Amino acid sequence: MKYLFSDRFGGSSKPPFDSLNLALHVEDDSSAVQRNREVLAKMLGVQKLAFMDQVHKSNIKVITELKNQTIKQIDALITNLKGIGLCVMVADCIPVLLHDELNAVIAVAHAGRNGVKQKIVNKTIQKMLSQFNSKVQNIKVYLGPSIKSCCYEVKEDTTQGFEKYLHVEGEKIYIDIVSKCVDDMQSIGIEAKNIEVSPICTCCDESYFSYRRDGKTGRFCGAIML
Ligand SMILES: [Zn+2]
Repeated sequence: MKYLFSDRFGGSSKPPFDSLNLALHVEDDSSAVQRNREVLAKMLGVQKLAFMDQVHKSNIKVITELKNQTIKQIDALITNLKGIGLCVMVADCIPVLLHDELNAVIAVAHAGRNGVKQKIVNKTIQKMLSQFNSKVQNIKVYLGPSIKSCCYEVKEDTTQGFEKYLHVEGEKIYIDIVSKCVDDMQSIGIEAKNIEVSPICTCCDESYFSYRRDGKTGRFCGAIML
């Protein structure tokens, strides 16, 4: 298994997508994005990549074909195929990578506020259990750089379900979706020692694309392969 989280360096895209933007839906030059995806494939050491047209829901697709592909209307992918990198694109949402070493199964999930609320990661884990006979104690989870509570200010009407994960400073409310995501995983048996969380806040660290900070910008990714 190999995994990585890309940053914004080493690609061909021009500002405001400079430079390793991996997303085709953000009005970047598509030939630059294709070159960037080739850079990603090389970094990962793989020929084929599977991307998602992510929609902040909780549908999950099992990848069964070894080819370059983009799955529409999906926020999580699972496979036991060797030689294909599963990719989740983000610019503040949590890129979640999962690995069951014993059964050789990998997955990615796109976990923004809506995805976390819909328990996209737990649903992905449950599908690994039901469809690939994974056991929770064998699943390792990697949460990549994402917007943290230092920067993630929200309106009160978007806090439902996150009551335990808010802090208030004066008039402002900040939300911690990472902690809720981690607690939810632990509630179904993922062990704390098997959860690795990047300390990086994408909105604070300009090495990463951040929609909250920059608006029109690119997407970096979490990618994993067997
Ligand atoms: Zn921050």
